[in-house]
Order: sequence, then C-alpha cells, then structure tokens
Amino acid sequence: MATGRRCQHCRGPLRATARADALYCSPACRAAAARRRRRYAAMVRAGKALVSGHADAVMRACPVCGKGIIPGVLRRADAVYDRPACRTAAWRARRGVREAVTGEAVRDGSAYG
Ligand SMILES: [Zn+2]
Ligand SMILES: [Zn+2]
Repeated sequence: MATGRRCQHCRGPLRATARADALYCSPACRAAAARRRRRYAAMVRAGKALVSGHADAVMRACPVCGKGIIPGVLRRADAVYDRPACRTAAWRARRGVREAVTGEAVRDGSAYG
C-alpha cells in the first residue's frame, strides 16, 4: 500500500519519496510528535503518582504563593512558579534585595525571567 500514507503528526500526506517506514512528513513534525509523546508520558507519570498518594514526587510548590504545580504537565519541566504574576513578584523581591545590598538600582527588564 503505497498510497494514502499520512504524517502521524499533522495528518498531511507523506511525500512519494518518503522512506517505507517514514511516519512523519518533516523533521519538524517528528520533533513535535516526540515532544507530545514526552508530555503525555509526564502526564501519565504524574497521574499515577497522584492517585497512588505520591503527589509530593511530582508536585512542586510555588515559592511565592505555595500553590502546587506539576512541572512537565501544563507547565515547562523547569517551571518554578505557578503563574507569571508569581514569577514577577519573585523577581521584584530579588531585585529589591540586590538594591538593598549594593545600593544601586538594577535596570528594569534586564534580569526579567
Ligand atoms: Zn506532518
Ligand atoms: Zn504562585
């Protein structure tokens, strides 16, 4: 069956020159599918941990408001804060400390994030 093969990610038709075992129409689609697979695996892992009472293993508390977040699920794997407002608040606090220590203002925006 050489016809009707579709990209497993975007469902677009594969090129006629695609390898017999090709699953994706482009490297971008292959990378996107891998990301989606990883995120799905993280969700499954987090879900299992939650239902088995091991929420601490996958959850992290936002250092600003204490709300629990699950990095890798809905958030980036390296997420620290549950929402941008908390990240901004933490950054403001850091800047305030630095100003107090050095006595000089840190330029706005330079250290954002
Ligand atoms: Zn595709
Ligand atoms: Zn927060």
